Amino acid sequence: MRCLVLSDIHANLAAFEAVLRDAETRGLSYDIVWCLGDVVGYGPDPNECIDLLRTLPHVCLAGNHDWAVIGKLELSAFHESAAMVVRWTQEILTPHNMNFLRVRPEKTEQGDFCLAHASPREPIWEYLTDAMSAEENFDFFSTSCCLVGHTHVPALFVRDGRTHNVHIAFAAGNVQIPFKKDARYIVNPGSVGQPRDGDPRAAYALLDATAGVWTQYRVEYPVQHTQQKMRAAGMPARLIDRLEYGR
Ligand code: ZN
Repeated sequence: MRCLVLSDIHANLAAFEAVLRDAETRGLSYDIVWCLGDVVGYGPDPNECIDLLRTLPHVCLAGNHDWAVIGKLELSAFHESAAMVVRWTQEILTPHNMNFLRVRPEKTEQGDFCLAHASPREPIWEYLTDAMSAEENFDFFSTSCCLVGHTHVPALFVRDGRTHNVHIAFAAGNVQIPFKKDARYIVNPGSVGQPRDGDPRAAYALLDATAGVWTQYRVEYPVQHTQQKMRAAGMPARLIDRLEYGR
């Protein structure tokens, strides 16, 4: 089975569409989209992104912004600019799409893969940014591999059966990683709609779940289109500017 792995689309339709077009241009075939949460929040196209996702075969998890929009997380936990867009999203989201967010699972297992938005230990809110936080999380899933998003930074954590050491080994560019049979992994594809690793291009991955091969991709998208819509909606400048820098 081949899976298109997306995370943190964050209501950025231009980025989402660019990813799907790029996959098509590269001739990447996939059976399903695995979306690791935060389809909404930060960006100007929440309904359009959920609608587009619905047209594809998908498994989609709940993220912290998704939960905030449906009232399952306190807005006080968010930066003021993020909270402002959550409130805006609550106003414009259709009841149908609100319901889509309400029924998202926090965590799921698909074959030998565990999927969680943030971490297997705390699926909604923990940031796996370094080897130490990742190391502790290997005890919280039983499959060989766990896929996470949330940090908006592509990352690969490996636990080797012999040494139990965890390494962060990832690059922002197009890289292919074959999973070793005797190792376990936590992998983050980065963010489609708001990258934060200094590269403003949309990030995504293709996972050949059968062969155990992960391929990471980046693609440019018209950042200004998204920024214009954010300006028109009166969204905070901080969120508009950061798309340009990928921070
Ligand atoms: Zn996010």
